[in-house]
Amino acid sequence: MYNIAVLPGDGIGVEIVPEAIKALKAVAEKFGHEFKFEEALIGGAAYDAVGHPLPPETLEICKKSDAVLLGAIGGPQYDELPVHLRPEIGALLPLRKELALFSNLRPCILFPGLLQASTIKEEVIQGVDIMVIRELTGGLYFGDKYREKTLDGGEKATDILTYSTDEIERIVRFAYEVARKRRKKLCSVDKANVLESSRLWRETVSVLEKEYPDVETIHMYVDNCSMQLIRDPRQFDVIVTENMFGDILTDEASMLTGSIGMLPSASIGGEVGLYEPSHGSAPDIAGQNKANPLATILSAAMLLRYSFNMDKEAEVIEQAVTRVLEEGYRTGDLLSCSDSGGKEIKVLGTREMGDVIVEKIMLL
Ligand code: NAD
Repeated sequence: MYNIAVLPGDGIGVEIVPEAIKALKAVAEKFGHEFKFEEALIGGAAYDAVGHPLPPETLEICKKSDAVLLGAIGGPQYDELPVHLRPEIGALLPLRKELALFSNLRPCILFPGLLQASTIKEEVIQGVDIMVIRELTGGLYFGDKYREKTLDGGEKATDILTYSTDEIERIVRFAYEVARKRRKKLCSVDKANVLESSRLWRETVSVLEKEYPDVETIHMYVDNCSMQLIRDPRQFDVIVTENMFGDILTDEASMLTGSIGMLPSASIGGEVGLYEPSHGSAPDIAGQNKANPLATILSAAMLLRYSFNMDKEAEVIEQAVTRVLEEGYRTGDLLSCSDSGGKEIKVLGTREMGDVIVEKIMLL
């Protein structure tokens, strides 16, 4: 019996998470596993209900579970709350810290059925398969932040960016181990020409590089990396980078796959892993059955692989997604320029997409 803490959160989170649960239940039935789901409040929904975006009961449920499945949090109605009560700063960041999730994996894979759904030319993105590994519990997002009044009556805002050798070493070692199991190419991304923290990052990678002679290491500045991702994404195998650079580069990388609604993520490091789509709560389409649930369903596949060591089960979900896309099923975000190789395109809502994935899982 495996216990999964379920945190739907806000906006489309409450629509996409049930679809991932449907997929997990189908896998449980097919392979004879038992998954127990325990739902808890997080984000704006938790603030509305109990006055805090990360209630202690939620943290407790997460800590005693075997894995956590999260939807998304946030929304414009929470943007003006005091900083510690805002969903991302008050819930997501402390949850990652409490669960010691220093490593965030975001696989950016182009599903063949979506070759024409990307805004980038087919010949540039065909075969893209990148694993972006983002440091998740350090850097600018976790540094001290404050404001001061200035003499001219204005304000000065400060965010502190800190990294220690230990923090860099553990994420880079992890990335080398992942690269060893893939195409053995590691691109470390920094801004060492300007930032001191990046200079330490680069020096640390240069020391570790000698321990992994079987992996080709390259260093790239983050501005160049953002350009190279669009110019020639196939040059990348594993990218490792610090927290904020990883946040921005993965949204950019998502467009290679057709939509941010396709990009799953796994956050690991401590005893309990956290799995969530890379996108936010999409308030513009929330409550309309329009959200793409595939990033969350693919996050559930990562949960099976990384937390439960269930490779076969994870592959069945990934295969189901591949087949469904090949057969021409699409949510609205995948529609632009989308072509299914001559097959008719069928536009589905969130729930209906979940249904066809479940059907496919059972058939595979
Ligand atoms: P967003 O990712 O929510 O949305 C960006 C765009 O992508 C929107 O047009 C949205 O409709 C679209 N989109 C996102 N996911 C989609 C899906 N599954 N299917 C179809 N279209 C999808 O980013 P944003 O608009 O910058 O942020 C909205 C809120 O989400 C903010 O409050 C932000 O703080 C929060 N946020 C939360 C997380 C998280 O929970 N991990 C991450 C990013 C942003």
